[in-house]
Amino acid sequence: MTELNNPTFRLAVAQFEQAAAMMHLDPNLHERLKMPERSLIVSIPVRMDDDTVRMFTGYRVQHDSSRGPSKGGIRYHPDVNLGEIAALAMWMTWKCALAGLPYGGAKGGVRVAPKKLSRGELQRLTRRYATEIFPLIGPDKDVPAPDVGTDAQVMAWIMDTYSQQVGFAVPGSVTGKPLSIGGSLGREEATGRGVVDVTLEAMRHLRLDIENATVAVQGFGNVGSNTARIMREVGAKVIAVSDVTGGLYNAKGLDIPELLRRFRGDGQPLRETKMGDWISNEELLELDCTVLVPAALSEQITHKNAAKVRCRILAEGANGPTTLDADQILVDKGVFIIPDILANSGGVIVSYFEWVQDAQRFFWKEQDIRDRLHEIITAAFHRTLQFSTAQRATMRMAALMSGIDKVAQAHLARGLFP
Ligand code: GLU
Repeated sequence: MTELNNPTFRLAVAQFEQAAAMMHLDPNLHERLKMPERSLIVSIPVRMDDDTVRMFTGYRVQHDSSRGPSKGGIRYHPDVNLGEIAALAMWMTWKCALAGLPYGGAKGGVRVAPKKLSRGELQRLTRRYATEIFPLIGPDKDVPAPDVGTDAQVMAWIMDTYSQQVGFAVPGSVTGKPLSIGGSLGREEATGRGVVDVTLEAMRHLRLDIENATVAVQGFGNVGSNTARIMREVGAKVIAVSDVTGGLYNAKGLDIPELLRRFRGDGQPLRETKMGDWISNEELLELDCTVLVPAALSEQITHKNAAKVRCRILAEGANGPTTLDADQILVDKGVFIIPDILANSGGVIVSYFEWVQDAQRFFWKEQDIRDRLHEIITAAFHRTLQFSTAQRATMRMAALMSGIDKVAQAHLARGLFP
């Protein structure tokens, strides 16, 4: 499929092939798992506020559903394309399997700059997109969630559109939705909290102190801002954060609560807060720090800048932030990598809790969510670390091999239909 031929899909496949070769994966399974199970491309006509009709392109890709309903976010971004969504769907398959969640992997997206739309336009786009992908989704089939450019409100519109089609409320049709319609406590911060949970485990393993740790976070969306906030709460010094426009650097540590109040609350651009020196996103990645958290888009650390990365731990909040050739350079430099499918799995782990709560119509306390997230993600971290030591594999390859192995076992147990 030539439509899949883009850098992000090539990265996901190259990672898969490297892991598959190391684990001597059955060649028949290898071919099956390389390609998505099902891909849908939809055209989305939207009546704009000026009464013209604009067309948008949307996607939903299900990579694998051998272990359960497929699961994955919906991304609104002007660069979204089929290859990127297929790569993200494949990563969801390994991520869910690695965490032991009873899900396959999927991802969706719309090629749109959501901030350029009015609220009404965004709602009409979302409802039409949800209608177009309706045949594919559902609580037992494929369950969307937020990703880059989407949030709880977008999920609420999808849940409502789905529920209107079937004629009754189906809270479990999406996760990451508002509390008022069956959302879960702790879902919004879950990815960031998971990043901090596994980073603390890595620091314990490397015998590093949180009080002396410095942290740089690329990206100040849901994942980046929650990671920065919780890192500071546990005692680390957050020396830099950034968004698409650039970053703030303060060697003494940024006052994250104050920064969030101004950025989120007052809508003040990062640069105008003047809470640190203004740096570029490239400079942020090259800062001398204990922990670097890329929490923006994919392919940020490449063979071009990997040699200049100076962190001790790379905790991948984003999906696919590091290319394969950069990986090797970082490993050779002794950087401890917590790979994306492990580091950012807190989001989908709490999505799973939300879906379970919706199915049971019984809701948990926030502390229960945090404790169970901690239990699952730290166990996955230690399994990956042990496997990596035993197999003499990098943390990324160990995580991928563990995930792929669980999916392979499901395929072998179920057999090939017909
Ligand atoms: N979009 C998030 C991810 O990439 C969460 C997916 C979900 O909760 O289903 O893992």
